Amino acid sequence: MKFMEDRILKDGQVRPGNILKVDSFLNHQLDITLLNEVGKAFYERFKDKGVTKILTVEASGIAIACMTANYFGTPVVFAKKSKSRNLDGDLYTSVVHSFTYGIDNTVTLSKKFLGADDKVLIVDDFLANGKAVNGLLDICRQAGAEVVGIGIAIEKGFQRGGDDLRERGYDLLSLAVVDEMSDTGIVFRKEA
Ligand code: 5GP
Repeated sequence: MKFMEDRILKDGQVRPGNILKVDSFLNHQLDITLLNEVGKAFYERFKDKGVTKILTVEASGIAIACMTANYFGTPVVFAKKSKSRNLDGDLYTSVVHSFTYGIDNTVTLSKKFLGADDKVLIVDDFLANGKAVNGLLDICRQAGAEVVGIGIAIEKGFQRGGDDLRERGYDLLSLAVVDEMSDTGIVFRKEA
């Protein structure tokens, strides 16, 4: 979408290792007006899907999830990266490889907050290789919850995560898809 592409062109910085830095508006300092537009765009696309919960992973997905939930009137639930011990078997767990830190995180979600009656919209700030989203899909599978859509602020289309999810039939909305990026510029995928 144009508003996200324009903001990436204005304030995004391409860093070594295929990292797009957007910390002035999306995941460190937060531009609430922009995040509100993100929430509204996800609502417009998924409002007829019967969404009961917005699901993300801490930390940078939480702000987007909250703005989105404001439109849907549903709770947000986020998978935690901090180590919780699954003593009572009351947690869903999945292992997610972090693109930005290069380590494996075990993410956890309390079973009381996601179940077979839920229709889930997964949201996140970035989609790269798809590890974070696939971890959330794994948690939804364990819960028996239905995933009715995936909303992403910025997809890096030159990595495989987004196209893989589309090929598997998921309803994925990425507000900007970066197909190429280098010191000399950023090329976005044309909207279908
Ligand atoms: P994936 O799991 O799809 O490989 O990567 C997505 C996760 O890694 C997101 O939750 C995001 O926090 C982080 N990430 C991936 N690529 C980038 C990037 O280019 N810039 C930033 N800031 N975060 C990224």
